[in-house]
Amino acid sequence: MSEHRVPNLIAGERVHGDQPLEVTHPYDDSPAGTTTYATPDQVERAVAHAAGLAGEGARLPVHARADALTAISEAIKANADELAELITAENGKPMMWSRAEVGRAVSVFRWAAEETRQQGGEVMRLDTDAAAEGRLAYVRHVPIGPVLAISPFNFPLNLVAHKVAPAIAVGAPVVLKPAPKTPLSGLRLGELIAETDLPPGFVQVLNVKNEEAGSLVDDPRLPVVSFTGSGPVGYAIRDQVPGKHVVLELGGNAAVYVASDYASEADLDWASTRIANFSNYQAGQSCIGVQRVFADASLYEDLKARVVEKVAALVTGDPRDEKTFVGPMIEEAAAERVEQWVTAAQGLGASVLTGGHRDFTTYAPTVLEGVPHEAKASCEEVFGPVLLLESVEGDEAGLAAINDSKFGLQAGVFTHDLQLAFRAQRELEVGGVIIGDAPSYRADQMPYGGVKDSGVGREGIRYTMTDFTYERVMVLTGL
Ligand code: NAD
Repeated sequence: MSEHRVPNLIAGERVHGDQPLEVTHPYDDSPAGTTTYATPDQVERAVAHAAGLAGEGARLPVHARADALTAISEAIKANADELAELITAENGKPMMWSRAEVGRAVSVFRWAAEETRQQGGEVMRLDTDAAAEGRLAYVRHVPIGPVLAISPFNFPLNLVAHKVAPAIAVGAPVVLKPAPKTPLSGLRLGELIAETDLPPGFVQVLNVKNEEAGSLVDDPRLPVVSFTGSGPVGYAIRDQVPGKHVVLELGGNAAVYVASDYASEADLDWASTRIANFSNYQAGQSCIGVQRVFADASLYEDLKARVVEKVAALVTGDPRDEKTFVGPMIEEAAAERVEQWVTAAQGLGASVLTGGHRDFTTYAPTVLEGVPHEAKASCEEVFGPVLLLESVEGDEAGLAAINDSKFGLQAGVFTHDLQLAFRAQRELEVGGVIIGDAPSYRADQMPYGGVKDSGVGREGIRYTMTDFTYERVMVLTGL
């Protein structure tokens, strides 16, 4: 196997499988790198190694975990340019977004180091009851066991970080299976982790074909499955292993409501800018990218004119060009699917206000109006640079329109009205309500995840740490 192939990281060693995995640049199909699929024997070795490290991981002292996490954060920062270029090469994400992703990964590991130091367990008095006099409980969080991390293509570094950093923070070994379209960032991160003082092979990274990943999911030596990706695959995994601890971070068709009070020049300018930008960043391939926009009828036409103008002005093109805001989609089939959904929506009466055309993998930033709710472009996850505008009459209708979805990840409400903000938090069936901004806002330490078909469980460092552990209580008697 030639040397330029990026190795899998198994049991602390750099190993090549016997089948190539060619990674191409989504913009023009040029080569981005080569790696290999791990052989079944190598996969078995990785799982056995992770299982063998579980006890040592659970005993790692806090300072060792925190220092390793800090070292990883610093290593990502020191290699930021290389990592950003790698993300752009394999994912097609414009450089400005790749740099942003690297910056977020730096802070995810830093946060995880801080959280590790904070965790002290809980002491609980039990003598609140006469029968328990002289008793005291100490609750500690124990890792459930090695984590199987399965990550999607759209944030090949930061969504890996969101699984790996909390796992290290709690002392759980990781077997990471990155997305086959974008394996290189995860493999590079694995190499940086290998340079820390963690036990060799604490985080292993291996390529496995989708059709062969079922055996990893099934393996009882990996009791936690942390999955981010599409709904059908996520729910199939949960059904496959109902007895396992499965965390699912899935898709959505995120919505925005612009309330009648958000009507000043400055308000409309801000709302239209955020809507235009966050329906198109990463070519719409974000689980919280803006897809559906509902605006109060009193300001609808004004908002529409601004959104259309701003979307049409977005710089589209080669993601390696620093000026590009909207790059290609991950592959031609994805762009073709979006094209088909837009055409189908037009067949159901929708109008295209801007965009609506494709060049190989690049789909033009598109605004639609008059899309019936049964059209796939509305009720399914479009996962492309397509935005739907609709006028609604008042707050009741605006919030109801957001909830009229099988998904529930995040929602955005543009309002200054505190009452409406709290009402939105009470009534919207989502994991996060963003007031005064698009639903695409995510701070990496906050709880993040969905309801309905958008998944189960939460990410956000501390919340993932809780998810990867269970509480083990010790009761002291005779005190
Ligand atoms: P995908 O479901 O196609 O793939 C996700 C991962 O699952 C990949 O690593 C893939 O190789 C693996 N996989 C596929 N089939 C498998 C199988 N049978 N067994 C085990 N693993 C298997 O998703 P994608 O296209 O890479 O990512 C896009 C999806 O991810 C979108 O739906 C998006 O909304 C979702 N997403 C969700 C979040 C979130 O945090 N909620 C974040 C990013 C992306």
